Order: sequence, then structure tokens, then C-alpha cells
Amino acid sequence: MIQNFDPAHPGKTIYELNQVVGPLDGVAGDILCCINNGNGPSVLLCGGIHGDEYEAQVVLRRLVARLTPEMVTGRVIIAPSINHPASQKGQRLSPFDSQNMNRVFPGKPDGTPTEKLAYFMTSALFPAVDLLIDMHAGGRDVSVVPMVFGFTTPTSKVGELSLNRLMEAWGYRFVQHVEGIRETACGWAREVDLASIEVEGGGGRMLSEELQIMEDGLLRALAAYGVIKPVLNPLPFDGVHVLAEPEGQYIAKAPGLVEHKVSLGDEVTRDTVVALVHPTGSADPTPTTIRSPMPGYVLRQTEHVFVKPGQLIGNIGTPK
Ligand SMILES: [Zn+2]
Repeated sequence: MIQNFDPAHPGKTIYELNQVVGPLDGVAGDILCCINNGNGPSVLLCGGIHGDEYEAQVVLRRLVARLTPEMVTGRVIIAPSINHPASQKGQRLSPFDSQNMNRVFPGKPDGTPTEKLAYFMTSALFPAVDLLIDMHAGGRDVSVVPMVFGFTTPTSKVGELSLNRLMEAWGYRFVQHVEGIRETACGWAREVDLASIEVEGGGGRMLSEELQIMEDGLLRALAAYGVIKPVLNPLPFDGVHVLAEPEGQYIAKAPGLVEHKVSLGDEVTRDTVVALVHPTGSADPTPTTIRSPMPGYVLRQTEHVFVKPGQLIGNIGTPK
């Protein structure tokens, strides 16, 4: 826990996040920022649940520096790199317990570093807000099209209609609809009737354009929620709602080298060749052709050239 932690303290307060887990070998401190300015909406912004998904962490660290209490109405809590032990080691999972933070919610007060961080979120931060925005990216393994998805319950402070409007306010082309997993941050938020939105976008390399899209989308959404003053003009929603289901995945059947034949966001039919998988160690250079498993849009692609059997090459979202 964090000493003297008071998420309602007026003005802008920076806390030492590392107090939650205590000293860890080779891990420096990190920050948690709480900004309060009167009554109004409240939001928890969290990045780096997966340590190597850095785009969101850069965007949120910039937001901590930029936001003043005068720009806020209500409450904004920002944890740029909640899983800082993993982030600071360049890894998706914490090297101290090898756990996937987005599968340990609600966490444990006396558990591993990863479980303690999850518990701090659910016990100290969730009760302080009406909305969770959990920001991810592709990490080193995949690239993801900019998109959002979210959950609410009949008793959440942010209802279904408002949540939908909010997701569209990002100005992204894709709003995704998924089942959700109970042990994720957003999954557990739903268990406790806290509305949540998960943000995706980027991966592989941190391209300026992807960072900008992530930052602009967040600023538009926070303004639409009413928790910050508008910085950018709102964008009318001109995108699609898509379903992302396991049937939309295309997976490597044999080891090989991936050549993507489509780009992220491309519209495909069942006949579209989405990738070729070239053989290694064969006299015959003929690649295996992979067609889209269904009509829709390319949401995700592997960043790896070499794939093993069972490895994801990409996935397609179908219009809802
Ligand atoms: Zn992630």
C-alpha cells in the first residue's frame, strides 16, 4: 500500500507507486498521479499492465506532466506504468513472478509483486472512480489497429449508452466487442459494477503516428466524458463496430516465414489472401497460402517473421 494515499486530496498529488511492492532488484521508483478539482466525473487511467506495451505508458506519462487541476473537472488518477517491475525490465510479464498481470485480478494483498499491484488497483483505485480506462498496445509480438472495447453493468455509474458514446468519441475506426475475461482489469471492473474501456493500438515498434493516434483519442474521450476541458475538436464517429471471436484468427499450421498480404484495418472477404507462409529448409520455395477465415477487417498481425505451429499470424473482426 502507499503511505498517506488519499485519492480525494484536492489538487495534483504524485505518489510513489513502488511502495505497493517494496524494493525489487534493479527496479527504480515509479509514479501514480491523482488530480482532484471539485465534483464531477472520475476516471482511472492505467498503462503498462503488460510491461512491454509502451505506447500507452509514454502517452500517460506525458498526460501526467501536462494536466493541471484547472484542466480537470472531478477526478483523474493516472498510473502510467502500473506493472513497473515488468516495464523497467523490458518485458510483458514481471520477471519477479512471471505472472500475466491481466490474468491475476482481483489480486492478493500478500501475494507476488504482480498480485499486489492488481490488488492495489482493485482495493484502492477502483473504489475511487466511476470509469476505468486500461490502455494496452501490441507489445513486441503483434501490431494492433487502434481500437477500443468496453464493459458496463446495469448498476454501473456509466451506463451502456454513455459507454458506447464514449467509445465512439475516441474517433477510432474500430469499436470492438468481445466476451471479456473475469481475471483481467476490465473483467474484474465488471464484477464490481465499474464501467471500463480497454484501448489497443500499435505494437512492434513505437511509431510516432501510433503514439499521436493514441494520445489524441484519449484526449477526445476524456473531454467527451467531461473530466477534462476539450483540447481537440471532437470527431464524429465514422467507423465500424466489430466482433472479435476465436474463429477470426488465422494461425500457423507449420513452421515458416510470414509475408503479410494485407495491412492492419484492411477490409477482407473469405477469398482474400491475408498471408503467405514461406518454407524454411526446403528445395521448393512455394509458400502456403492463407485466406481470411471470414469477411471483415484485419485487426491484428504478428510482428514475427518466423512462426511456429499454433502461433497467431493475424485476426479478423467481423462487422457487428
Ligand atoms: Zn496488453
